Amino acid sequence: MSDAAAVGGRRRRVIIVGSGPAGLTAAIYAARASLQPLVIEGEPSSTSDQPGGQLMLTTDVENFPGFPDGIMGPELMLKFREQAVRFGAEFITATATAVDFSERPFVVSVREDRYEADSVIVSTGAQSLMLGLEAESRLLGHGLSTCATCDGFFFRNQQIAVVGGGDSAVEEATFLTKFATKVIMIHRRDTLRASKIMQDRAFANPKIEMMWNTAVEDLVGEEKLEGAVVRNVVTGERTTLPLTGLFVAIGHRPNTDLFKGGLDMGDDGYLVTAPGSTYTNVPGVFACGDVQDHVYRQAITAAGSGCMAAIDCERWLEAQH
Ligand code: NAP
Repeated sequence: MSDAAAVGGRRRRVIIVGSGPAGLTAAIYAARASLQPLVIEGEPSSTSDQPGGQLMLTTDVENFPGFPDGIMGPELMLKFREQAVRFGAEFITATATAVDFSERPFVVSVREDRYEADSVIVSTGAQSLMLGLEAESRLLGHGLSTCATCDGFFFRNQQIAVVGGGDSAVEEATFLTKFATKVIMIHRRDTLRASKIMQDRAFANPKIEMMWNTAVEDLVGEEKLEGAVVRNVVTGERTTLPLTGLFVAIGHRPNTDLFKGGLDMGDDGYLVTAPGSTYTNVPGVFACGDVQDHVYRQAITAAGSGCMAAIDCERWLEAQH
């Protein structure tokens, strides 16, 4: 549904691009502030900008406050969305294909359809880099994970592995030793990229075992992960490692291609916001959630920053008149 007439006109007070916890929280707050936000929520077919964001790729969420028995990621996002709709937010189930923030009104395009807005909230999120194996999409959320903070708890007393050799991989592996009996760090080289202090921490941890010069070539298991086929890149030897959990920690990529040249971003591609706020370098354009946060990356922190973005936006719009 990308017909502008169906969503209440092409000129909006605020357009929200992205519909994970940040974008939908911004939508709830903006809608309750009578700003009638239009949310360009992404497309279900895509893995990087599916409506609902990264939580659509998870199963149980046990750390989102308010759900003492846990909730499935997709169900949680559906609840966020219903709450936004209840207060009048409107949705376009499509991916924004271009933006023009060079003058006001701002323009957000969905293919040939152009939508104008007095303000824009960017909440396009980030994606975990994956290994590129066919089995990944099948097993993500079923033993395969990209977030130890979210899923570590499910692997109590099990043997699991982490792929990667950077700070994230060491951090995840160290965290996972609280739950697992053993954490194997599978790294493609024979030295870690992680900082010295993190390396020392990993080497000193008796539950972490290093598996050097090793690439993960395939995953075993139909409905849930049972193991990984690994290859020693020096000897060429292949083995199947029995595992109930595998955490991919080879980096993240913010979804910011659309904003190159339009918004300030760091060398790592994350959008830059003014400290303690969601203001980008363009007045009237705000950013929240993982697209500007490479530190916390949690649903609750994303939701919190979405709330901040809607409040920043509302106050900014108010000040314009
Ligand atoms: P990173 O530093 O880019 O490390 C990625 C790791 O994954 C590297 O070891 C890399 O191997 C490996 N890798 C990449 N692609 C791979 C593939 N296709 N197959 C197998 N292995 C692959 O990413 P990061 O660890 O997420 O860290 C990102 C930034 O955040 C860094 O600046 C880091 O210092 C920072 N960070 C800091 C902390 C902290 O201080 N507490 C925690 C997390 C992150 P190679 O080494 O062979 O390239």
